[in-house]
Amino acid sequence: MRIVLLGAPGSGKGTQAALLKDHYSIPHISTGVLLREAVANETALGKQAKAIMDRGELVPDDVMLDLIRERLGQEDVRAGYILDGYPRNLAQAEALDAVLGDVGLPVQEAVLIEVDEDQVVERIAKRAMEEGRSDDTEEVVRKRMRVYEEQTAPVAGHYADLGLLTRVFGEGTIEEVLERIKGALQQGVDG
Ligand code: ADP
Repeated sequence: MRIVLLGAPGSGKGTQAALLKDHYSIPHISTGVLLREAVANETALGKQAKAIMDRGELVPDDVMLDLIRERLGQEDVRAGYILDGYPRNLAQAEALDAVLGDVGLPVQEAVLIEVDEDQVVERIAKRAMEEGRSDDTEEVVRKRMRVYEEQTAPVAGHYADLGLLTRVFGEGTIEEVLERIKGALQQGVDG
């Protein structure tokens, strides 16, 4: 199964991706996690990315493409993948199509997790208390939401044009949302 998960910050993408990874036994590739690791390890990439992430902006496309290309070149990806946090704009979506085409592992399904904006703000406030992410302050969250609306929301249209998009309602319990996603993926594979 080769999946792209789409959704606003706080839509539950990361949570659902981790569960889908266990269910399908395929790698969960989160660019947010990869970037936070680079920041923690103080690599050159991490040093470049930290200030950008703390402003709620997007790390430059060329930097992200190097990172994702490297990850998608690893052996475990041949079994499938769940992409979380990439692509985040149309240029990234097109670059990704090319990289995946080259390795013969094109996206099979894109799932957009839809959640009401008030819910999302509430969830992120809760996560901020629990995890202390430096980009979870109210001001930066607002900025990330704007970036999402302007740059990432159009990515759903890209996959819709390819006939690969399914929308899933992201409210309710984690388990309920997971079941909806699994149902949507099963339908996509069957139909
Ligand atoms: P969320 O989905 O909650 O916004 P992520 O963990 O996916 O959080 O991403 C956190 C930050 O990492 C983003 O605000 C952005 O600065 C950076 N980032 C993650 N993925 C990308 C990407 N594909 N392109 C550019 N920047 C990215």
